[in-house]
Amino acid sequence: MDERHSMISVENVKYTYDGAETQALRGVSFDIERGEFVAIVGRNGSGKSTVAKLLNALLIPEEGTVRIDGMDTIDEERTLDIRKKVGVVFQNPDNQIVTTVVEEDVGFGPENLGIPTEQIIRRVHDALEAVDMLSYAKSAPHMLSGGQKQRIAIAGMLAIEPEVLVLDEATAMLDPLGRKKIIDIVNELHSKRGITVIMITQYMEEAVDADRIIVMNDGLIDFTGSPREVFAQGDRLRGIGLDVPVIVGIRDELIAKGLIAPCDVLKAEELAELLCPLLLKN
Ligand code: ADP
Ligand code: MG
Repeated sequence: MDERHSMISVENVKYTYDGAETQALRGVSFDIERGEFVAIVGRNGSGKSTVAKLLNALLIPEEGTVRIDGMDTIDEERTLDIRKKVGVVFQNPDNQIVTTVVEEDVGFGPENLGIPTEQIIRRVHDALEAVDMLSYAKSAPHMLSGGQKQRIAIAGMLAIEPEVLVLDEATAMLDPLGRKKIIDIVNELHSKRGITVIMITQYMEEAVDADRIIVMNDGLIDFTGSPREVFAQGDRLRGIGLDVPVIVGIRDELIAKGLIAPCDVLKAEELAELLCPLLLKN
């Protein structure tokens, strides 16, 4: 097998749901390299979840190919291997809970994939530790907050020890604090363990730390670039129903009013650094 293939390779993929009149994906191509952190953004219905489901063989392309570490998802003999490699966390935490005890829930995925019991015990422990939920191992999942449930769902994926973690709007139903905790955990998994992360989100703030952003619209990739490149194109984003992060919006207004020079800052701290000297001058 070619050793130089991408971790994920999506080539001209088209997909239509049964009974749907239009294609959900109309020819999507992208590669993601091992260890990359890629954000996928796009308004509702643009095809993001369809991409997520294609990445762990929940859906199979009607045209084109999806390869995970060289394995074609159309090859049913590789489905289990693909699901061990790519963990997907979905939007609704309640739909992802399957048992009545947290630790059983986290062990459910690995058990289904045939991982030996003695290994599962260690994996469940490590996964709960990684999402800071070890003290809830014996708790009932339905008693937890939405954010805690999502951390359990992430732990369930981590227990499979995937090389790729896909989060499909996993923070959408959470309050800001729950959301931040998830983002911090994911950033740490990426930076410390080198896990390849695909963060699908409607919150532009969550895309700021990505290596690269893929912008989807209407079943196609509209454009891609680094966060600085993508968020320099506010008008283009607004044109397809998206926006820039709040800080970038403020930045652009300050630039438009001539208060600061054109720049590509993305974060509050960077903007504060620009503004402090101005405030002190007056
Ligand atoms: P997103 O995740 O960006 O909101 P989706 O991938 O869920 O977008 O949906 C892409 C398109 O496919 C939308 O037009 C949506 O209505 C349609 N779609 C999604 N799921 C189904 C389904 N199960 N049956 C029929 N159409 C669907
Ligand atoms: Mg979706």
